[in-house]
Amino acid sequence: MPVAGIEPSTIHDNFDEMRGGATRRHEALDILAPRGTPVVAADDGAVKKLFTSVPGGLTVYEFDPDQRYCYYYAHLDAYAPGLHEGQLLHRGELVGYVGTTGNAPKDAPHLHFAVIHLDPDKRWWTGTPINPYPLLHKAP
Ligand SMILES: [Zn+2]
Repeated sequence: MPVAGIEPSTIHDNFDEMRGGATRRHEALDILAPRGTPVVAADDGAVKKLFTSVPGGLTVYEFDPDQRYCYYYAHLDAYAPGLHEGQLLHRGELVGYVGTTGNAPKDAPHLHFAVIHLDPDKRWWTGTPINPYPLLHKAP
């Protein structure tokens, strides 16, 4: 569970919702939480890329140790102090804080969380999104 203090049974599956004027699927989960709530690593891995984008705001791309999956965290209010590319993360370690950077509504802080199955060339910006809801929903 990538947001501290969230009860898994309370999250909603919004992976298939249409966004951007119904032109694209969401392909991620939005996990609502108060601004400043700790965002933590969903799995062990390494910080592959810290990136600021117009839609995502402050974002983190984390690759799992086998480089099969990329975990994407967006709309962060701030990064964890000292967070840098190449840093190894353990599951549960602080990544940043919930916020509304990018295109998130200013009155609805949330973590936009995606899991992407990486292509063979392991590029952080491409891959196939998979729905993390079934895994998170039944997380202990
Ligand atoms: Zn979202």
